[in-house]
Amino acid sequence: MSLKSPKSTQTIDATRIKPLNDQEPNTKGDFVLYSMESSNRAEDNHALEYAVQRANDLKKRLLVLWPLFGDDFGSRRRQKHFLLQGVREVGETLKERKIKFAVQTGGQAEKTLEFAKHAALVVVDRGYLRHHTAWRDKVASEADVPVVEVESDVVVPIETASDKREHAARTIRPKITKRIGDYLVELRATPIDQDSLNLSVDSVPLDDLDAVCDSLQLRKGFGGEGEGVGPVSLFAGGADEAKRLFRVFLKDRFKYYSAHRNQPQTSDCSYMSMYLHFGMVSPVWLAMQARDAAVGGKENVDDFIEELVVRRELAINFCAFGDNYDDYDAIPDFAKKTLDEHQDDEREHVYTAQQLEDAQTHDPYWNAAMREMRYTGYMHNYMRMYWGKKVIEWTKTPQYAFKTLVHLNDKYFLDGRDPNSYTGVSWCFGTHDRGWTERDVFGKVRYMNANGLKRKCDPEVYVEKVDALVRQVGGPAADHSREEDSLFSA
Ligand SMILES: Cc1cc2nc3c(=O)[nH]c(=O)nc-3n(C[C@H](O)[C@H](O)[C@H](O)COP(=O)(O)OP(=O)(O)OC[C@H]3O[C@@H](n4cnc5c(N)ncnc54)[C@H](O)[C@@H]3O)c2cc1C
Repeated sequence: MSLKSPKSTQTIDATRIKPLNDQEPNTKGDFVLYSMESSNRAEDNHALEYAVQRANDLKKRLLVLWPLFGDDFGSRRRQKHFLLQGVREVGETLKERKIKFAVQTGGQAEKTLEFAKHAALVVVDRGYLRHHTAWRDKVASEADVPVVEVESDVVVPIETASDKREHAARTIRPKITKRIGDYLVELRATPIDQDSLNLSVDSVPLDDLDAVCDSLQLRKGFGGEGEGVGPVSLFAGGADEAKRLFRVFLKDRFKYYSAHRNQPQTSDCSYMSMYLHFGMVSPVWLAMQARDAAVGGKENVDDFIEELVVRRELAINFCAFGDNYDDYDAIPDFAKKTLDEHQDDEREHVYTAQQLEDAQTHDPYWNAAMREMRYTGYMHNYMRMYWGKKVIEWTKTPQYAFKTLVHLNDKYFLDGRDPNSYTGVSWCFGTHDRGWTERDVFGKVRYMNANGLKRKCDPEVYVEKVDALVRQVGGPAADHSREEDSLFSA
């Protein structure tokens, strides 16, 4: 795979740009409008730079609009607070660039259409889930001006890599690696010709995010009965924080990436998933930084690019090419058939969704994973696999397991409600995988067990790590009373 590329450019590759309707620009419009949703950053953002360039071409000012509404497609206070930290920073950075940024209360489609009436042209960034495409389609069909979508949250634009839902990493990998060098290009900011800070548009102040979250009726808590899911102090949102954390990762931990990627007792991964989810950091920027860091050998770069680009863009491919990404029905036929055949197999342990959510199983490693998710908003990749697989084993039907996993994933993870979330859950049920030796409950779907964890990593140290993290964020001490087969039992 060649990761070599030109140094930097202001040109946005045509494959990132897609007109969503065929309207003509309104030359009388007051401004070019960028309705920001997925790429919440003021640097390395192709949609923003495209909007700047079109505003300059059309001799207009640029208005960046950010609609604010309570339940952003299922977000809780935890996710919203993190997102707003990043949005506040976008406003500050755009101000330095003399670009007006307006946070307005209202739905994404409604607000965008309201402002589109005064715009010469509308730019949107790209999202891949149903609710993302729905509002963009509505704006495109109802606006009287061009609506142009610019794809900035992937390295290789999704339809450039492939024109269909891919089978597995092995089928998309060669398509991505063939093109990756063309897209690893630093994007230079284009200066805006006309200062738009004097545009008279109100903006909701974001100085007090607790007050903003209260006004949106988003509840605090850790998800206990009657509680909401509140912010966690371990992670702060924003492009600056994303870049700072990533630089620390490159300096101190990247050298262990390959060796430790399946070692959840360590923290030698990037923690970039929540920043990528909210578009606070560009995957192009991350990939180039990793490539150029060149610490600890090429293996670390290759493995990191495999996750960040191949696996992540495979997950996006899965969601972009099928509306059923969060449905049990989307799992492969072989998996459906085999899980169906084993539906009535006896399960040694069966738990309700509530017992799972409360981390009340007999398995200390699984409980620790659930507690990491619930109290910190994150979970190590290796434990996410184990977490998902065990829910299949411990619930009455695979359909119930699927729904429970999607629900918990969306509720607690800062990076939840992402293409990676649905593809990750679906992977547990055989998506992008092959058949394995047949066994109870799972049939031919890949299985994981606690003994495997003990052989490959150090789950007992992982439990201690999670207990310390939960203490740090003020969560409750672990209840080890039900657990068996662990360091806690005699
Ligand atoms: C059941 C299950 C649920 C998951 N839910 C989510 C989710 O809600 N949100 C989410 O972003 N990821 C999810 N993943 C994928 C993966 O576990 C996380 O992206 C990763 O653990 C995030 O940690 P990191 O940023 O430190 O990863 P790193 O190892 O540092 O990787 C860098 C980046 O590569 C991407 N990446 C890493 N592993 C994967 C993978 N297996 N598939 C796709 N992309 C990957 C992520 O964008 C990640 O930020 C899930 C996986 C499983 C098995």
